[in-house]
Amino acid sequence: MKITTLGFPRIGRNRELKFLLESFWRKEIGREEFLKKVDALKKEHLLLQADLGVEVIPVGDFSLYDGVLDTAWMYGCAGKRFRFSPSADWLDKYFVYARGDARNPALEMTKWFDTNYHYIVPEVDGEFHLQYNWMLDEFNKAKRWLKGRKVELKPVLIGPYTFLKLAKVESETTLVEWMSALWPVFEEVVNSLVSAGARYIQIDEPALVYGRDKKAVKRLGGYYRDLNARYGKKTRFVLQTYFESVEEHLPEAVKWGFAYIGLDMVRGREANLKALSRTRLPEGLRLVLGVVDGRNVWRTDYSQVITLLKGLAKKIDLSNSMLSPSSSLQFVPYTVEGEDLGEIQPYLAFAIEKIKELVDIRKVWRGNTSLLRANRALFKRLEREAFRNDPEVRRRMKALSPSDFDRGVPFAKRFALQKKLLNLPLFPTTTIGSFPQTQEVRRMRRLYRSGQISELAYQVFIAEKIREVIRFQEELGLDVLVHGEFERTDMVEFFGMKMKGFAFTKNGWVQSYGSRCVRPPIIYGDVSRPAPMTVNEIRYAQEQTERPVKGMLTGPVTILNWSFVRTDIPRKEVAYQIALALREEVLDLEKVGIKAIQVDEPALREGLPLKARKRRAYLDWAVKSFRLTTSGVRPETQIHTHMCYSDFNDIISAISEMDADVISIENARSRGELLDVFREYRYDKCIGPGVYDIHSKRVPPVEEILELLEECLRRGIKKELLWVNPDCGLKTRDWPEVKRSLSNMVEAARILRKKYGK
Ligand code: GLN
Ligand code: ZN
Repeated sequence: MKITTLGFPRIGRNRELKFLLESFWRKEIGREEFLKKVDALKKEHLLLQADLGVEVIPVGDFSLYDGVLDTAWMYGCAGKRFRFSPSADWLDKYFVYARGDARNPALEMTKWFDTNYHYIVPEVDGEFHLQYNWMLDEFNKAKRWLKGRKVELKPVLIGPYTFLKLAKVESETTLVEWMSALWPVFEEVVNSLVSAGARYIQIDEPALVYGRDKKAVKRLGGYYRDLNARYGKKTRFVLQTYFESVEEHLPEAVKWGFAYIGLDMVRGREANLKALSRTRLPEGLRLVLGVVDGRNVWRTDYSQVITLLKGLAKKIDLSNSMLSPSSSLQFVPYTVEGEDLGEIQPYLAFAIEKIKELVDIRKVWRGNTSLLRANRALFKRLEREAFRNDPEVRRRMKALSPSDFDRGVPFAKRFALQKKLLNLPLFPTTTIGSFPQTQEVRRMRRLYRSGQISELAYQVFIAEKIREVIRFQEELGLDVLVHGEFERTDMVEFFGMKMKGFAFTKNGWVQSYGSRCVRPPIIYGDVSRPAPMTVNEIRYAQEQTERPVKGMLTGPVTILNWSFVRTDIPRKEVAYQIALALREEVLDLEKVGIKAIQVDEPALREGLPLKARKRRAYLDWAVKSFRLTTSGVRPETQIHTHMCYSDFNDIISAISEMDADVISIENARSRGELLDVFREYRYDKCIGPGVYDIHSKRVPPVEEILELLEECLRRGIKKELLWVNPDCGLKTRDWPEVKRSLSNMVEAARILRKKYGK
């Protein structure tokens, strides 16, 4: 069994890629220096993997910005609308597609399957040509760098089916058509790699895990059969899948002539095993077994892998198969080395450690028992760790009853009570929570964190900011105010730091998109709230004004989806634990006189499983987690929620079941679509479709906001239920913009009230 990986973290040990990109964009380094240093980084990653024991090393998994963009760039199909100045060279152009410029809005970005990595969505129109075969360049360079090393290189291509799915073709017919146009270009690239001596080529087709497009996939199979027949003698092709099982297509895919099929044996373990046991595998077909989790940060339980391998060995000859992570390693941080995570550190494995695990697993498979024993001991110890089992949390989880998930009073009744208590006009105005996080705010936070100013000084500073923002909102004439979130860096980190069961790395960065990286918290133990988390700030804000101030919390599902989560208990249970902790916070806020509480769930949609059959169960517990958080309050306390970056179509009924009194949602960028969804569903609670796009610097004129609100009314949202708010939090904007935008928004609401009565 050989060891291979499917992709390596691009950003580098210390986010080198990020800093190179940023200094290049700021023109601090020139083109030559930038490209030279990027090549050095790639080389380092290749050599490192070779040193660690990877025998078949991926090439072309690196990218200056994003791999889908690179693929589109290769096929000349990134987007026809782009216009460039005559002096622009290819590198300038490349970044314009990714980031836009004065003339060209950037290409859209969206999530890569169910990960937190965002890829660039090319604007494909069905025409393709080989614009620039960068893959061949990468391969040739890598060959030079690894000369003399006993390793094989494996160019990694995004398969045509997955590529077109990611480009969002409208229909299967178009998909089939475009695939036939793309195929010759794809084959040209393959041909060039084969001629250059590539002994392995990995073709990524993770879109197969959706199990859809029977017709298109059949066609795809025909193409692959030809490809394997033509080039398979010189080169071993891997059909690589990940993130889920491929049982829907496996029976046919084994007949496409591939030398290897790569399977996710972590997330797709059960279903893939079942499918394998039902499928007759052709002589000579090998597997790439993704046995180490590429999506999470925990050590691998070797015994489990050995059991898996023993089972498989009965069916196929494993000696020529390969062991791999279950996906690219770009979704986990670089290395645990250098972290300071105390009791949980021994249980963690990031990219480098995961590769070492693969090497160990092979040794164990070949009979090394001491490694196996050590691994068993590790897991025995972990099972007994007190942090995993907090009796008080467990007791409360057991005691949950249906009434804990239910407000007890229907919305119509709550609505009347809230109206009276909050004394709100028609078309109430509010914001989503955060206000500009200026240089000053960030500097003070840094000073506080590094101990250069005292806690008291920091709190005094935050209090001053809260006073200012309350006065600011009163002057503008907003109806429901917020405290501004100045004390928060990140909406998940802030809460994670205050709860038990969360750990934070120093350097555990993963790429979010381009040069942007995030450092997700690690949920390692039972979650609880030792003390109130937001009450001081919110109460203080409420003391400054007669108008209602919204309490502001991040929801349990969002906290879960933006963290690395323990796997010894179901995700649902972790979500409920977080919900219980937040529920206490909600009740504490109510106790100190807060009348409206917002629980943000921007990431609820993105946790939706890739397999249709798993979605209902997810939505069910996701909704329940929200309800557990919020339904302890009195009927007159108004519960808000906020969602963004969502495609609400397929989750609208779940949104309604969350039973929030008011929902604010991103709308400005997708306009009508979203409203239609809500209308068709007959959404019957308060709704605030964002009236302007906070991602842009542009100040929306009154007429435009008015028109948008009128459109909401025309499309059937009842005037009593319509709220007026921006799209999302204002933390990335500056004060003058915010002032002008919000006063236009308030003005629009006033005009509407004149027209439609108070
Ligand atoms: N309350 C948060 C804010 O305003 C919501 C952020 C989000 O939806 N991503 O910043
Ligand atoms: Zn938002």
